[in-house]
Amino acid sequence: MSGAHFHSVLVTGANRGIGLEMVKQLLQLREPPKWVFATCRDPHGGRSQELRSLASKHPCLVILQLESTDEASIKAAAKEVEVHLAGSGLNLLINNAGIMPPSTLESVDKEDMLSVYRINLIGPMLVTQAFLPMLKTAAKKSNRKGLSCSRAAIINVSTIGSSIGRPPSMAMFPVISYRCSKTALNMLTRCQSLEYKDDGILCVALHPGWVKTEMGTEKAELTVQESVQGIIQVLSSINEEKNSRLVDWEGRIVPW
Ligand code: NDP
Repeated sequence: MSGAHFHSVLVTGANRGIGLEMVKQLLQLREPPKWVFATCRDPHGGRSQELRSLASKHPCLVILQLESTDEASIKAAAKEVEVHLAGSGLNLLINNAGIMPPSTLESVDKEDMLSVYRINLIGPMLVTQAFLPMLKTAAKKSNRKGLSCSRAAIINVSTIGSSIGRPPSMAMFPVISYRCSKTALNMLTRCQSLEYKDDGILCVALHPGWVKTEMGTEKAELTVQESVQGIIQVLSSINEEKNSRLVDWEGRIVPW
């Protein structure tokens, strides 16, 4: 793990899919984080059962309600995290929550586009704004130099399907609102990296691979365990060299 250690991590959309597996594997690390904040829309609902059962075994796992489209819920979650961290700052923010409804050029409408942007782009934007002071604190207090996830980082989960330079065909990936929202998320990541580099915060867009989840479907190439094993390796080793880029689950830079 190249001496990497994440003192505190927050993952959005952590009740299932890639987010849940990230939480599981973070807790299994030889040196697990002191705090893992797992956010989900409905902490008491049936779809968060597995997360609740994990939390009952791991006192460092804190479940928080967070709906990406609701600014009040984001702010309330940030307040709670601040109390737990008691001034130590947040090292790693993983904006993972997202949706991918089908939409073709013919079927997509204003509401579809707006609702997907609200969750996939505006959500990560608001979440990052709310947690930024804690990320800055972590970067300042760290005795590590340079940029790394052990110091302070914003990871925006994107997709290779967001690429403008090498786009997958329309037949292969008929999800217009999703593609546009993730391309915009890449630009948000790029802007964040320009602005926050001097604060010591690494900003990266991450492609998790094509993963067997509800979104990725059973046809996908990777199990969620394989994808997240790769992602944790990448988070452990990533530095300035890949700051401000779209990086895949194996650490390769993906062309925008
Ligand atoms: P899933 O559909 O399995 O899980 C999505 C997660 O996002 C759920 O926890 C869901 O919560 C949450 N979520 C959805 N809407 C909101 C919202 N409004 N507010 C808060 N949370 C919300 O997806 P994956 O795990 O596959 O995807 C995770 C990320 O990886 C996404 O950003 C996706 O775009 C990206 N990705 C996935 C790929 C794949 O092949 N699976 C490929 C490339 C990128 P709830 O249970 O409440 O619905």
